[in-house]
Amino acid sequence: MRAEVKKTKNKEPVASGRIKKAYRRKRTAIIAAITLIYLVIVAAAAVIIDDRHIEITLLGDEDQLAEAGENYVDPGAEAYFTGNLFGRTKRPVEVRTESGVDTTALGDYVVKYSAEAFGRSAESYRRVHVRDTMPPVITLEHEKDYLASWLVGYKEEGFTAVDAFDGDLTDKVVRTETGDAVYYSVVDSSGNECAVERVIEYGISEPMIRLTGGEEVDVGAAFTFTDPGYEATDESGNDLTSYVQVTGEVIPWKVGSYELNYYIMNEQGETATARRTVNIVPQPMEPMVIPEEKTIYLTFDDGPGPYTGQLLDILARYGVKATFFVTGDDPDYNDLIGRAYREGHTIGVHTFSHDYYRIYSSDQAFFDDFLATEDLIYEQTGTYSRLFRFPGGSSNTVSRNYNYGIMSRLAKTFTDMGYVYFDWNVTSGDAGETSSTYRVIENVAAGCSENTVNVVLQHDIKGFSVDAVAQIINWGRNHGYTFKALDETSFTAHHEIAN
Ligand code: ZN
Repeated sequence: MRAEVKKTKNKEPVASGRIKKAYRRKRTAIIAAITLIYLVIVAAAAVIIDDRHIEITLLGDEDQLAEAGENYVDPGAEAYFTGNLFGRTKRPVEVRTESGVDTTALGDYVVKYSAEAFGRSAESYRRVHVRDTMPPVITLEHEKDYLASWLVGYKEEGFTAVDAFDGDLTDKVVRTETGDAVYYSVVDSSGNECAVERVIEYGISEPMIRLTGGEEVDVGAAFTFTDPGYEATDESGNDLTSYVQVTGEVIPWKVGSYELNYYIMNEQGETATARRTVNIVPQPMEPMVIPEEKTIYLTFDDGPGPYTGQLLDILARYGVKATFFVTGDDPDYNDLIGRAYREGHTIGVHTFSHDYYRIYSSDQAFFDDFLATEDLIYEQTGTYSRLFRFPGGSSNTVSRNYNYGIMSRLAKTFTDMGYVYFDWNVTSGDAGETSSTYRVIENVAAGCSENTVNVVLQHDIKGFSVDAVAQIINWGRNHGYTFKALDETSFTAHHEIAN
């Protein structure tokens, strides 16, 4: 064959091509074999190396219940890296925990655990359910030595209710009392209920009465009397005060000695009594002060009315202070009481109605009318007055037609109560004798004396009398008189009481 090949030299390129083809086939086979071996090695290596992974193990249950309001402690997780790369190995790996569990809010939460090492990572999850399963707690308070009284019943000693999640639930406690026990119950916002019972223990002990202010008190005469106070208790401290019966009468405006009796009986029929003497005494009086200078007190009764504003203007112009004994007759002018007061004049009571029949029919009727005027004055000035003038003066006899002796009684009573009543010693004649301005001036000028303190009576509901005021002031000043407003120490110009 070789010879043939040699013979056919010209066919050599053909022979040479064949050799090359064979060589190539061989090389391809070798490459394929090498590749195969390589792949087998790689595959084997891959199997050996790729067993690497991380395992996370949760400690505790995968699903957990957490109590609302309490601290939630995550039990945690462990993680290990496991693999064959460096021989079979298992190493702990740090676990990262992401927890949003909030035990102050009911709800379902997820805790995420993750770990990473040598190019591998893993995640695991836990579900946490925040629930309020604990009932609230009611705590009863107990007062030392306390025993309830059959007379007044049980007095609550106190309680509180607290829930771990809702907080203070004391206000939500429902309290039911029977004769023998008190039941308390409360439900929290998740419906957990707490109920407790208190057995009422009763005691019986002698009642005791204690008088505030002592067994004898001095009280200044006034329109009303308020007991200085008393207390009744038993040995367990039960307040029995409202079961005390008080008998006896005090006439608060009438000076004298009165007796009050206090009495209490407990459920066993045991009694306690106390007695108090109440001395109604005259109110202290300011002593009268007689001015050294020649003085005229202008006083105006029966207003305020249509001319009062004009009168106040005149007095302001002359810088003279006067006195107004007011009524509630004409409500349209009530505000002038306030104006007069603010402009420095004295306000006194002259009764609200000025109705003789009404005010002098009884002491009480006079009181009522008087106090209505005081209220009016207070409303207009912010203060009460201690000064007044009786309609008709203290010497009036018209009251005799309605109530015998009433002027004597009222004069004493009001003086005892600390009021000062004023009459007058200079009359202007404007109440009926005249309706002439000139006559009014003349009467006042004639009536005033250097030898006394002059208290002039005029009426500011009379226009002609108000018209006389400017000239009276001029006349008085020209004759050396000083004009003043009355106060509690002023000369009262009292008349002789005739009823
Ligand atoms: Zn009058």
